[in-house]
Amino acid sequence: MIPYGKQDINQQDIDAVVAVLQSDYLTQGPQVPAFEQTLIDHTDAEYAVACNSATSALHLACLALELGKGDWLWTTPITFVASANCGLYCGAKIDFVDIDPQTYNLCPKALEKKLILAKAENKLPKVVVPVHLCGQSCDMASIHALSLEYGFKIIEDAAHAIGGEYQDKPVGCGNYSDITIFSFHPVKIVTTAEGGAALTNQQVLADKMVLLRSHGITRDKALMKPVSGLDMDAQGNWYYQQLELGFNYRMTELQAALGVSQMQRLNQFVKDRQRLAHRYNKLLAEFPLILPMQLENANSAWHLYVIGLTVEDGLRSKSKLSQKALFQQLRELGIGVNLHYIPVHTQPYYQNMGFVVGDFPHAEYYYQQALSLPLFHGMTDAQQDEVVSALIQVLGA
Ligand SMILES: *Cc1c(COP(=O)(O)O)cnc(C)c1O
Repeated sequence: MIPYGKQDINQQDIDAVVAVLQSDYLTQGPQVPAFEQTLIDHTDAEYAVACNSATSALHLACLALELGKGDWLWTTPITFVASANCGLYCGAKIDFVDIDPQTYNLCPKALEKKLILAKAENKLPKVVVPVHLCGQSCDMASIHALSLEYGFKIIEDAAHAIGGEYQDKPVGCGNYSDITIFSFHPVKIVTTAEGGAALTNQQVLADKMVLLRSHGITRDKALMKPVSGLDMDAQGNWYYQQLELGFNYRMTELQAALGVSQMQRLNQFVKDRQRLAHRYNKLLAEFPLILPMQLENANSAWHLYVIGLTVEDGLRSKSKLSQKALFQQLRELGIGVNLHYIPVHTQPYYQNMGFVVGDFPHAEYYYQQALSLPLFHGMTDAQQDEVVSALIQVLGA
């Protein structure tokens, strides 16, 4: 089976992890700050906070922006559930903004319409989470302009997009958002096995995320509060204080060392994905398929290559093959196609909150006809040709 995504681990990665195992620190040593520095170097953001997952990073980001009970978080329905769940962790309410039918990203026009209605009802969101689907940036300039007008904060979910660019700047630079999160899950662009990070240019947000990443505990004397009945001058270097209710969202040294090593190949990973994506574009140009739409002002990191199966007069409508049948036949031919994503508002957990199928028509239409083809660093041209041959066989193209 040719998988839809796969990590690329070389001897240098293995040596880096083994070296940590032979060192004094398996956690809270020098590798985590070194990894954070690679993220700062790459993006030009001021601060990076590495975590044990992007889900944790999203949670910390929401907490740092003081999202809480009674607040609203808005995101896109076409994303992994974590982009929405982070708001629920904070007691906030969730709503969705439909996608742009061409880019599949959160649509700024739909966002503006919804903001106008929400303002009239006094239900404006505190946080909006645009997701750079497949690795291509959202229209951040438009979303940012709306944030100034309507007073919401922005968390970029860039789980797919490390190595991508928007307006000639690396995704994660934070020019149009408060916080950007990355994921280092093995199917993503670079991996730390499990892992994530939150990047920001605002020191207060970075400090808050660092504090909450580790139980809300500090060893910084300047932050400590007097405790009545406790002689503060008698407290030695063992002394720490818990200031907030935090979590254990720390990344290990093993993960960070893998990340440092992987980051050295980030450009290579993205270049290879871009090359393969352009090769798909060429090989599939004459197929009755919708190929990924590329924006002029963005360079995708190409986490995913998503094709649309329904075009007017397309072979699929002639052959009447359902999405399900195509998926099944391609899998049987050893092609690890996948589907990203089931619209979040159709999940039973979200249906219980009152969302219904029909709420976000563009997202639902996308879901009925999308398919992700295999794409990963190290995929060979021969493997890609095999995917194309299978498509010819199945579509009868
Ligand atoms: C993978 C992913 C996440 C979660 O990442 P983890 O590191 O697995 O927690 C969040 N958002 C999107 C869009 C993702 O694809």
